[in-house]
Amino acid sequence: MHEFNICLDILNILEAQAEQHQIHHIKTLTLAVGNLAGIEIDALKFSFPIAAAKSIAKDCDLVIIPVEGRAHCSHCVDEIVIKSLWDACPDCGNYDYEVTQGKELKIRNMEVG
Ligand SMILES: [Zn+2]
Repeated sequence: MHEFNICLDILNILEAQAEQHQIHHIKTLTLAVGNLAGIEIDALKFSFPIAAAKSIAKDCDLVIIPVEGRAHCSHCVDEIVIKSLWDACPDCGNYDYEVTQGKELKIRNMEVG
């Protein structure tokens, strides 16, 4: 599963951070996940505890903040909201837009303890 590998990537980042700051356990992890990032949030929530079972994020609460997909349409010259990268501009029906937000996967916050 694609999301499982994403979890492993996140855990690698967390382990590196933990080592640097001498953190032994992560209690809560908040991730910002863009609607256009190609990540299934349910699959991510399912995979995370399995991927984290032997890590410093064992039994950690995973909080996910969805980030709306936004783009700049070159026809409407306006910011539009899109639900997927396969969507046309809801205003003019063109695909000629540049995504400005929603492709990200970011660690927003992490509570240690
Ligand atoms: Zn448009």
